[in-house]
Amino acid sequence: YLSTIFCRNPYVCLECGYHGCITLPRVISINRHDHRVSRSYHLGHGDWECGVCREKMHWPFGGFSCKRCPNYAVHSKCATRDDVWDGEELEDEPEEEEEEAPYKEVNENEIIHFSHEEHNLRLGDDNVIDCEKMRCDACILPINSDIFFKCVQCNFFLHKVCASLPRKKRNILHNHKVDLRVRDKPGKYFECIYCLQFFDGFRYTCKNSLKSFTRCSFKIDVRCGSISEPFNHELHPHPLYRTSRETKTCGACGQESDYVLSCTSCKFALGMECATLPRTVKHRCDDHVLSLHFGDGNSKSTQLWCDICEGKTDPRVWFYGCDSCGTTLHIKCVLGDMYYFKPGNKYLGAELVSNDGMTRPFCIVCKNRCMFPSYLKAVVDDSTVEYGCSMGCCTQDTSKGQDELLYTI
Ligand SMILES: [Zn+2]
Ligand SMILES: [Zn+2]
Ligand SMILES: [Zn+2]
Ligand SMILES: [Zn+2]
Ligand SMILES: [Zn+2]
Ligand SMILES: [Zn+2]
Ligand SMILES: [Zn+2]
Ligand SMILES: [Zn+2]
Repeated sequence: YLSTIFCRNPYVCLECGYHGCITLPRVISINRHDHRVSRSYHLGHGDWECGVCREKMHWPFGGFSCKRCPNYAVHSKCATRDDVWDGEELEDEPEEEEEEAPYKEVNENEIIHFSHEEHNLRLGDDNVIDCEKMRCDACILPINSDIFFKCVQCNFFLHKVCASLPRKKRNILHNHKVDLRVRDKPGKYFECIYCLQFFDGFRYTCKNSLKSFTRCSFKIDVRCGSISEPFNHELHPHPLYRTSRETKTCGACGQESDYVLSCTSCKFALGMECATLPRTVKHRCDDHVLSLHFGDGNSKSTQLWCDICEGKTDPRVWFYGCDSCGTTLHIKCVLGDMYYFKPGNKYLGAELVSNDGMTRPFCIVCKNRCMFPSYLKAVVDDSTVEYGCSMGCCTQDTSKGQDELLYTI
C-alpha cells in the first residue's frame, strides 16, 4: 500500500483504499466531544489514546484532534464511524452559537424554567417531610434528599440537576445533537430507544426526525440522554466507555444488550437498561433505603429469595438489597415497568395509583395480585373498577398500546 506511506494514515487507507484518504473530512463534530475536531497528519510525540475506542494511537500517524484540548485525539476510522459522526463536513461552517440556558435566575432562590414559564420555581427547603411522594416532573423520580425547585403556585417540581439539563446536547449513543422536549398531551408516554423503559416526563429527541422519519424518530429518556464518558458506576471498579456498537452480554443482568458501555480494563459491559437503574430506591417491604448490589456469583452459596414475588434470586445478577435486613429483591419486582410514570396521572385511560394500600387488587389480565409499586385503575362504570399491574399486562394484544383504553382489552 503506497497510500499508507503517502498519507500516513494506515487505518483509513487499509480500510477504504487510496481514495479514502482524500475524501476524509477536515473539520467535524463528533458525538462525544464538546468541540470540533480537525484532521491532523501527525499528532506529535506522546502517548495518545483514541477518544472513541480508547485504544493506543501511534503518534507519527494522523487522526482527528481538538484545537482547544491538547490531549484529545481520535483515530480517523473511529471519528468517522457512522454512530460517532453525522457525516457533515464543517470546514466552512461557522461555529455553533451558545445554546440557550434552560432557566433564567429571577433572584437567589427563584428561577423561571422554560418548561414552566407561567410560574416561578423556588429552591425547595430542606425540612419537607414527604420527599418520597414528591416526584420531579423531568425525570419522574422521587425528590428524596436532592436539591430541588418547587413551583410557587402549583404542584410542579424539578430536581436542580434536572432543571439544568441542557436544551440541546450531544449524546454518545447517537450521532446527531438531540433536543430537550418538555411538554406533551397528558397521558402520553414514551419508550426510551436505548434502555427500553417506558417513561413520562422530559425527553431528548432528534431534530433530524423532522427530515427523515425512518432513522431518527425516537425518544431518549433523560437518564440515557445524560450518560457521558467516562461513566462511573459504584458496582464496577473501572470507568466505562461507549467504545463499540456491538451487542454484548450485560454484566449486571446477564442479558444480551444492544447498547452497552464497555470497560477498557476488563471484559465487563453494562447495558443501558442497567446503567440507568436508580442506585437507591425505597420500597414498602423494607424500612431502609435499598441499594443496588451485585451477587456473589457463587451458585453454591445459600439460596436467597425475593420478598416481593417469593421467587429465587440469581447470585450472578444485580439486585436491590438492604444490608441491615439482608433483603434481596429482584430489580424487576422493585421497579415494575411503570416506575418512570407519575402516580396520579392517567395512562392508557386509567389512573396510576401507588400500590401502598392495605390490600393489593387483582390484575384483570394476569389475575395475580398487583405487586409492583403502582398499578393502573380504570373506572369502567359506576359499579365496575378494573386494575392492571403493569404495562406488560395492559398493552398485551394491542399492536399500539398508546391509544387503547385499559378496559377495552
Ligand atoms: Zn479509535
Ligand atoms: Zn476539545
Ligand atoms: Zn429529576
Ligand atoms: Zn406552576
Ligand atoms: Zn433510556
Ligand atoms: Zn443489563
Ligand atoms: Zn472493568
Ligand atoms: Zn421478585
